[in-house]
Amino acid sequence: MSWQNYLQPKTLAEAMDALANAPRPIIPIAGGTDLLLDLEQGRHAPVQTLLDVNSIEEMTHLEITGDELFIGASVPVNRVATSPEVAHHAQALTEACDLIAGPQVRNVATLGGNVAHALPAADGTIALLALEAQAEIIALTSYPKGSGAERSRSAVTRKVPFQELFLGPGKSSLKHGEELIVGFYLPLTNYHQASCFQRIMRPQGVALPILNCAVWLERENDIINDIRIAVGPGGGTPFRAAQAEDILRGLHLNETTFESALEALLTQAQFRTSARRASADYRRHIVSGLFGDVIETAWLRAG
Ligand SMILES: Cc1cc2nc3c(=O)[nH]c(=O)nc-3n(C[C@H](O)[C@H](O)[C@H](O)COP(=O)(O)OP(=O)(O)OC[C@H]3O[C@@H](n4cnc5c(N)ncnc54)[C@H](O)[C@@H]3O)c2cc1C
Repeated sequence: MSWQNYLQPKTLAEAMDALANAPRPIIPIAGGTDLLLDLEQGRHAPVQTLLDVNSIEEMTHLEITGDELFIGASVPVNRVATSPEVAHHAQALTEACDLIAGPQVRNVATLGGNVAHALPAADGTIALLALEAQAEIIALTSYPKGSGAERSRSAVTRKVPFQELFLGPGKSSLKHGEELIVGFYLPLTNYHQASCFQRIMRPQGVALPILNCAVWLERENDIINDIRIAVGPGGGTPFRAAQAEDILRGLHLNETTFESALEALLTQAQFRTSARRASADYRRHIVSGLFGDVIETAWLRAG
């Protein structure tokens, strides 16, 4: 067996209690669509305890709170893809979640799992990056080290800028066995703001894309007031094309400004060759068309 205990807390308090006291190693499991394969195929070392986060009430909400949209980490991507609130305020995320896998996987795979797996081309992750999401993290506070010691149950939550969640391919900055993603906060969409997500897949591909791209932008008449561009995989962590964004801010979108932005994106991105999907050269070649389509769609939507 790849695990000995399976816990299903109903609240964050119960989950943190389990993290503090259940036999270690302990890791969270949501839909299991990444994790169970990793455990079964030996890419993840066996664990003592799996902590099922699907029933944790606070992590299943999808709602507007104040001037933000909150999406709990345990919300399945199918629910994200069909939510009218997400469609209105985060169209790129609707488009990304609608493309993830097939219906069976989408019904159980969660947004939190997509992000915590930390792959640089995960579709939900790339959309959240362009939408400038913040992650809410809950962490155990200090507890006595050493076997047998009764551990403290206290926990604190904090908001983290999305990019700070990633250290490298498949490596999140979350502290193993001590931290959970509670959910994601996204700014609400205002007038003349819009987003778009598209991807390029191998024809027979079911999992990660060859390349994906999400753009959020704000227009003021014919000028790009503000813009965020995310491309996956454009490096070891989910990639923001910050230099291209700097070039486009304050300018009209036309062939010349697009070409300058593309050049900046190609300079900054570190495309790599992946055995099953595409070469770095091929990615460099096709990013122009994908980026062009995505930015043009976002531009027209924001008009
Ligand atoms: C057939 C198939 C097709 C797929 N197609 C796509 C695709 O098109 N695009 C795409 O992006 N992905 C795809 N995936 C990958 C996968 O389905 C997604 O990444 C999914 O969103 C992962 O979510 P999950 O709930 O299943 O995560 P799990 O497998 O349960 O967990 C993944 C990781 O996240 C951690 N974790 C989960 N929840 C939390 C939390 N709340 N806090 C902290 N850590 C947490 C787990 O410990 C684990 O390390 C595919 C997978 C399969 C099997």
